[in-house]
Amino acid sequence: MTWNPAPRCLADVEAVAEALLRDDDWLIVTHERPDGDAIGSALAMSLLLEKIGKRWTFMVEAPLPARFDYLEHYSKATVVSDEYAGRFQHVVAVDCADAARYAALQFVVAEGATVVNVDHHRTNPRFGVANAVDADAAATCEILFHLAKALQVPLSEPLSAALYTGILTDTAGFVQPNTTPEVYQIAAELLMSGVRPYDIAEPALEARSAEQMHLLQMALSNLTVSEDGRYAALYVTRGMIEGAGAEEDDVEGLVGFARSIDTVEVGILFRETPLQQVKVSLRSKRRVDVSEVAQRFGGGGHIRAAGCTLETTLEDAMEQIFTAVERALDEARV
Ligand code: AMP
Ligand code: MN
Ligand code: MN
Repeated sequence: MTWNPAPRCLADVEAVAEALLRDDDWLIVTHERPDGDAIGSALAMSLLLEKIGKRWTFMVEAPLPARFDYLEHYSKATVVSDEYAGRFQHVVAVDCADAARYAALQFVVAEGATVVNVDHHRTNPRFGVANAVDADAAATCEILFHLAKALQVPLSEPLSAALYTGILTDTAGFVQPNTTPEVYQIAAELLMSGVRPYDIAEPALEARSAEQMHLLQMALSNLTVSEDGRYAALYVTRGMIEGAGAEEDDVEGLVGFARSIDTVEVGILFRETPLQQVKVSLRSKRRVDVSEVAQRFGGGGHIRAAGCTLETTLEDAMEQIFTAVERALDEARV
C-alpha cells in the first residue's frame, strides 16, 4: 500500500475543483441538524474557498451546536433569513444525501443556480452539475481531504482540524466498519499538520451536557428489545426533551445504546419533532442494509446508519418501522 492515500473518485474530485475555480461567490450548505461531518466539511469548504480567493457564505437553518465552537469560521455561519431570498447563483452542498436535505435553505438559491455536490451517501442521486460522491468514503471530510490536494491547498492546522472532526465523528472515533486503512493514513497526515486528537475528541465526541445525560436517563427507561432480541428501540418525545431541558441535538448518539445490546442487529431511535413528525434513526451492526429500510420511507443514508421522517404518530411510526425492520432482518437471515 502506498503512503499517499489516493482518492477513489479522482476525476470527480477534479471536476469539483474545476467547478469551484470557475465561479467567485459560493453558498455552502449542508444537511439539517448538522453533525460533525456536516459542520467539519462545510467549514473545511469555507477554508478551501478562502484559500483559492473565493467569496463564500455558509448558511444554516439554526445556530451551530456549541460543541464544535473550536473550529475556524464556526462563528461565521450565517443563520438564514428572508433577506437572502434568491441571492445565490452558485451552491456547494456537502454531506447532503439529496437536495431535500437542505430544503429549508432552498429559497435563497436563485433559479437555475449551479450546484456542486460533495457527499458520501450511497443513496445520493448525484444532483449537482459536478459531483464528488464516494459511498466508500468514511466521511465527506475524507473526500474534501482529496479536494484540498486537487486544489493544491496546503493542510493548515484549522483545515486539518475541520477534516479530522468529520472523519472522527462519522467513524464514531475510528471504530465503525467504515474505518479503512485510508482513514488512518489521512488521520495520520492531519495529525502531522497539527491536529491534537484529544482537543477534538473531547468536545466533538466525549462531552455531554447534564441535560443530555438527563435525556439519556429518560430514554433508557423506555428501551425495548424485540422478543427475539434482534432489534431494540428507544424513543424521545417532546415532553422528554422539554423535561430534560435538552436541545434537539442532544438526541444525537442515543441510538447507539439500542444497537449496542449484544444480541441486537438493528438499533432504532424515534424522536418526535416540533412539526409533529417522527424522525427515525436506524443503525445496524453487520447484516442489515438500513439505508434500504430508510429509503422505503423516503429517507436514506448509509448501509449501517440511515434515517427517515414519518408524518404520523409515534405509535404508528413504531409499528411501521418495526414491521419493515423485521422483514429486513428476515431477508438478511439474521
Ligand atoms: P441520523 O439517524 O439522522 O443520524 O442519520 C444517519 C445517516 O443517514 C446520516 O448519514 C444522515 O445524513 C442520513 N440520513 C438521515 N436522514 C436522512 C434522510 N431523510 N434522507 C437521506 N439521508 C438521511
Ligand atoms: Mn452527516
Ligand atoms: Mn457524513
